[in-house]
Amino acid sequence: MKKNIILMGPPGAGKGTLAKQLKEELHLVHISTGDMFRDAIKAQTELGKLAQSYINRGDLVPDDVTIGLVKERLSQSDCDAGFLLDGFPRTLVQAEALNKLSKEISREIDVVVNLDCDNDELVRRISGRRVCKNCGAPYHVITMKPKVEGVCDLCGGPLYQRKDDNVEALKVRLEHYVSDTKPLLDYYKDLGLLASFNSLVGKETLFDEVCSFLKK
Ligand SMILES: [Zn+2]
Repeated sequence: MKKNIILMGPPGAGKGTLAKQLKEELHLVHISTGDMFRDAIKAQTELGKLAQSYINRGDLVPDDVTIGLVKERLSQSDCDAGFLLDGFPRTLVQAEALNKLSKEISREIDVVVNLDCDNDELVRRISGRRVCKNCGAPYHVITMKPKVEGVCDLCGGPLYQRKDDNVEALKVRLEHYVSDTKPLLDYYKDLGLLASFNSLVGKETLFDEVCSFLKK
């Protein structure tokens, strides 16, 4: 079984849901960087105090401190059964440091689970969403058509497109994500650790696919 896992994926790809499902099914520790910082600060470890001093000044916590915290966290005994690293690494420097430290503490990364979203498909899906102005029932111009175009099946109210299903804003977010993570994905691909999954298949199917892959 692959038990030491890095989880990656763009906003809206269902990373949070998958992490929760995997944690329950495989009894892995879910380590998000936010929680890790909070725990270390609460426990007042040396690195926790150091991180806090940067945060208090409104500065970014430097890489060596974050990397130190990851090492400290992954060394804890609850990670024996495996862990799900979420939100780290974000840069190539961090990925290289993680590679080194995970060997030092004998917790080598088994796999990088990457949620792949065909951006165009994601944008198409979101831009096709419609909502009833009257009762809030959801529709989709392709996958969940009302019987009469533009009219709610349930109450006869008019269907409209919500402002936050804004295609342009979503496109920009996704483009940033892709350019930021490309070097990381290439790095893990070269190491033979990258496993990509199409996240648009639906929550349950995605979970089943990732689970059976990890259990192999
Ligand atoms: Zn309605």
